[in-house]
Amino acid sequence: MIRTHSCLPRRSCAAVRVGSIAVGGSAPIVVQSMTNTDTADADATAQQVAELARAGSELVRVTVNTEEAAAAVPSIRERLAVQGVNAPLIGDFHFNGHRLLNKYPACAEALDKYRINPGNVGRGRKKDEQFATIIEIACRHAKPVRIGVNWGSLDQELAGRLMDENARLPAPKPAAEVMREAMILSALDSAQRAEDIGLGHDRIILSVKMSGVQDLIAVYRQLAARCDYPLHLGLTEAGMGSKGIVASTAALAVLLQEGIGDTIRISLTPEPGGSRTREVVVAQEILQAMGLRSFTPAVVACPGCGRTSSDYFQRLAQDIQRYLRDQMPVWRDRYPGVEDLKVAVMGCVVNGPGESKQAHIGISLPGTGEIPVAPVYVDGEKTVTLKGDDIAAEFRQLVADYVVRRYGTR
Ligand code: SF4
Repeated sequence: MIRTHSCLPRRSCAAVRVGSIAVGGSAPIVVQSMTNTDTADADATAQQVAELARAGSELVRVTVNTEEAAAAVPSIRERLAVQGVNAPLIGDFHFNGHRLLNKYPACAEALDKYRINPGNVGRGRKKDEQFATIIEIACRHAKPVRIGVNWGSLDQELAGRLMDENARLPAPKPAAEVMREAMILSALDSAQRAEDIGLGHDRIILSVKMSGVQDLIAVYRQLAARCDYPLHLGLTEAGMGSKGIVASTAALAVLLQEGIGDTIRISLTPEPGGSRTREVVVAQEILQAMGLRSFTPAVVACPGCGRTSSDYFQRLAQDIQRYLRDQMPVWRDRYPGVEDLKVAVMGCVVNGPGESKQAHIGISLPGTGEIPVAPVYVDGEKTVTLKGDDIAAEFRQLVADYVVRRYGTR
């Protein structure tokens, strides 16, 4: 069950159905992600799609760049069905989408949405023809399309024309402003052409991704004011680690706060060997931190300071966080509302009892010089004091019991 909490006003737009998921309208903001496997490798791609879906990705995009990739899409769908994974699949097309979708109708049918980039559909006269071919196929298969403009592959003919027109003005605008206008026009003109060809207004989603935070905010604000299509938000090429997370959060938080954005993707570069699911977790955490949606019980933990005698409480906080996330695939259905649970893990007596009382269940560990016991608070009342070597396991059990008691009878 999807729960929304926000009383923030959302920009109004029609809902677009992507398989079983609604994007836009009154639907909750949808989390999506993209695989980085070779789509031609159906086994590896199905496995990664399943991992992303189990982590909470409600839509998953795969690149469809070759004939082998297009041929593999139906078997990826079948492999997912065998595993009980029904997350809608989106095909990402550049340069040859018209040919692949034409030649592989089973791929066109198995996908739940096509993503096309107006800057990479074709050049000159062929651009319009190839764009029309993709849209006609989308119409034939009743599929929605995301028209995804990207700063790095902006339609050069359009950008050049706008730059020339700007240069002839008595007071030319800054180049960045002209480029933003080119991004918006590329999206809006393409959407209008798609509708002229026959694609329903309610089958179009737009995005205008850029890699600079301020550029992204500016371009989406303008786009949001000039159309009522659902908007896919994402900072493109966000980067690695904390830089990618912070930049994406900074940009998306401003827009989401203004009611702009119907689906989000966090374009993180994974650490070598790191899990692709990180981008899903970050997307969920942004929405949850903003009070827009709840996905996983929250762990409130203090940062620690000179009063903590060891890293024990950090390890406990991490252990509980991991435990809660691991339980969610089962808890989500069995204990409705459990995603709103708040657990506190605190390092000492200074703020420990107070913060623990504010949580549904909290533990205040002993700081330096304190008696080595850990009081546990449930719904604001001190219930039990843990001590000894098994505090982590005992606290996990108390959390599990609390979940059953509080959410199990609904
Ligand atoms: S609760 Fe205690 S250990 Fe944690 S930051 Fe505050 S003073 Fe430091």
